[in-house]
Amino acid sequence: MKVLKFGGTSVGTPENLRIVKDILVAGQPEKTVCVVSALGGVTNLLHSCSDLAASGDESYEELLSQIEERHLSTIRELLPVKTQSVTFSKIKILLNELEDIMKGVYLIRELSPKTLDKVLSFGETLSSNIIVDYLNAENIKTDLGDSKALIKTDSAHNNANVDFALTNKNITEYISKAADLVVCAGFVSSDENGVTTTLGRGGSDYTAAIFAAALDADAFEIWTDVSGMMTSDPRQVTSAHPIEKLSFQEALELSHFGAKVIYPPTIQPVLDKKIPIKIKNTFAPEDPGTTICDDANGGKQFVKGLSSVSNIALLNLTGSGMVGVPKFSFRLFKALSEAKVNVIIITQASSEHSICVGIDKKDIEKSQEAIAAEFQLELSLRKIDPLEVETGMAIVALVGDNMRQHVGIGGQMFSALGENGISIKAIAQGSSERNITVVLEERHLKKALNVLHESFFLSKKKRMNLFMVGIGNVGGTLIEQIKKQYHYLDEQEDLELKIVGIANSRKMYFNDEDGINLEDWKGQLDSEGEPMEATQFVNRMVEANLRNSIFIDNTANADIAGLYEEILKKSISVVTPNKIACASGYENYLTLKSTAREYQSKFYYETNVGAGLPVLTTLGDLIKSGDKINKIQAVLSGSLNFIFNSFKPGVKFADVVRQAGVEGYTEPDPKIDLSGVDVMRKILILIRESGLKFELGDIESKSFIPQECMDTTSNEDFYSSLEKHDEVFQKIVSDAEAKGAKLKFVATFDKGQASVGLEEVPKDHPFYILEGKDNIVLFYTNRYVEQPLVIKGAGAGAEVTASGIFADVMRIANS
Ligand code: ADP
Ligand code: ASP
Ligand code: MG
Repeated sequence: MKVLKFGGTSVGTPENLRIVKDILVAGQPEKTVCVVSALGGVTNLLHSCSDLAASGDESYEELLSQIEERHLSTIRELLPVKTQSVTFSKIKILLNELEDIMKGVYLIRELSPKTLDKVLSFGETLSSNIIVDYLNAENIKTDLGDSKALIKTDSAHNNANVDFALTNKNITEYISKAADLVVCAGFVSSDENGVTTTLGRGGSDYTAAIFAAALDADAFEIWTDVSGMMTSDPRQVTSAHPIEKLSFQEALELSHFGAKVIYPPTIQPVLDKKIPIKIKNTFAPEDPGTTICDDANGGKQFVKGLSSVSNIALLNLTGSGMVGVPKFSFRLFKALSEAKVNVIIITQASSEHSICVGIDKKDIEKSQEAIAAEFQLELSLRKIDPLEVETGMAIVALVGDNMRQHVGIGGQMFSALGENGISIKAIAQGSSERNITVVLEERHLKKALNVLHESFFLSKKKRMNLFMVGIGNVGGTLIEQIKKQYHYLDEQEDLELKIVGIANSRKMYFNDEDGINLEDWKGQLDSEGEPMEATQFVNRMVEANLRNSIFIDNTANADIAGLYEEILKKSISVVTPNKIACASGYENYLTLKSTAREYQSKFYYETNVGAGLPVLTTLGDLIKSGDKINKIQAVLSGSLNFIFNSFKPGVKFADVVRQAGVEGYTEPDPKIDLSGVDVMRKILILIRESGLKFELGDIESKSFIPQECMDTTSNEDFYSSLEKHDEVFQKIVSDAEAKGAKLKFVATFDKGQASVGLEEVPKDHPFYILEGKDNIVLFYTNRYVEQPLVIKGAGAGAEVTASGIFADVMRIANS
């Protein structure tokens, strides 16, 4: 004996019904009960239609015609013409009855639970009648079982309770005499007076389980539109995958906490008889699906699934009058239960000073009234505080029988959420330890499910979401580098590096779901970009609320640097070559670092000094391991090094500076380099990273550029002014040459003093041989006393800077 249940989508269209027929035929000749839902969407349409009628809205008639047409066209498309008329007349009789009831609802303007049951029952009654006729027309001998008459319940309309003794007897008697294949309507039943009742929304699964248990079925299969119970709701978590095996208890927990694929009461009847449930996909019958059975808790996977419930409200009852008072919780739950409020989650701190319950938000008013009435006296004596209600909440539950055998699951859950800025409002763990439940804000739900899913089910796979402002030379190169490495990282490192938002000074463009297609990022920005506004960019990034988000600032812009604190506070990491933030006031620098720590975000800026050279990470490692920096000597400007390596007697200084700009080695404003400000910022950052409180004003700057040149306001004026003062520069270069020395712009920190300036470097100095745009840093420390720790290499240019930013991103991904 087999019991198969086909859900709304499976029986939703004529094409799908043909697939259902094939599945039934493949399973023959075994005796089979086939429970069917209403045609997909019809129950919802019936509900809306009766709501409209009850509110006196004539447009209910339009919905009614839609419902009628849906069934009539199914008959037209599915049944052979010669058998259609019999089915048409049966269905029309039912539709006329429905029309009369709806008219009654419209005229009386009332929809009692009893009438609603009657109305909703038409969905399954209609579908089962059509399906039986279709199968018979296909020469598959099928009987129509009368579920309403067979399944007997009490009169609790909309969610009736089954009288199993009577029902089981009815079913076994009927099936013993029926054909080998019987189709039965799901969801519907009747009370002792024969009045129609229903088993609750989603109740066709339950109907099938009642049949399976009554008949001691060997196989019980629920055919739906997904390939089994998934590790999480596939509509929220795209990487969710089917769970091969679950225990009855695990399935019960997952379905109670929102896994819609199975209606929770379904499990009870078959659990008692230990009949396994298979969940199968009508549209991919070859997929193994999920088996829910008694012996499923072996295996390595200790967390089996993740589910969630939305529309939760938290009620917090607090007050000194609660401590140690017996019966307090009893009274609370009695009041809620009498008001027919279903309590979904309960937490109470051991101080007993407060108790918190989670309920469906539709029950808020009822609960408030019930609690106010029950605790009237305590409230008036101020022994308890007025009830606090928090709305906009959701519940997320982590489920698995074997969780109790593992320590640290709660910790892993909380840290994964915390790292992504999701705070937890309440926690509950059942003593079975099969379920850890947290309440969080509903706006974080999708992110939370994805974060947890990544953490528990794809422990290897990780998606990073990058938001990039500044896509010129450095940013553009970074995008190209990421594009090139994408597949390698995905396949070899299980890392999906998605660029989700990009912006230049004019436009910004986002693709939250799939990430921007990097084959044509410029084209998409041009054609689909919105006008760029930095705070708007940040808002969009925060609203996207994606896990593992990183903001990358490739600009040299102070306004953008001013946004970091707010971004870090949203638990979004910041990576930047922009030196402005770290070289701003010391307090701001410290605030950014402590904000990152507090909100578990990262603030990385390796490329602030020496482009892609590992200067700051090396310095950080020295400091963390207990070394102390005594002296730093460095050539930190790739641009100035390039300029002084190219500047020879007889060549105009202005031409060399201009050329450096053309080749992209200077800042957009070359004065930033030539004035030494850029180098001052870099040595300042090195000093601060060494652990000292230092300001830009504490650094002595020995400028070699005449003030008049510095006072110019455009790049062209600056170049002309340099030309005008060329003899100053010629003298500097020929003096150095006369001494056999080279000119280097050197930054020094020694004995607590810092300075930057042009220096003549003799032949035996390590700086003498510095080529092109190279940088060099010498660290003299307690451990590196005579021979300094030297870091040397290309210190400017888009490729190396982009690769330094890339490395910071990777450090975050691997943390
Ligand atoms: P049917 O009409 O066949 O009864 P339902 O719509 O009631 O189907 O349930 C199947 C749907 O449940 C799937 O399409 C899926 O979107 C949703 N769903 C939610 N959570 C889960 C989960 N954990 N596993 C599988 N499906 C889920
Ligand atoms: N048709 C009913 C509903 O949509 C029952 C079911 O499909 O399980 O709730
Ligand atoms: Mg269902």
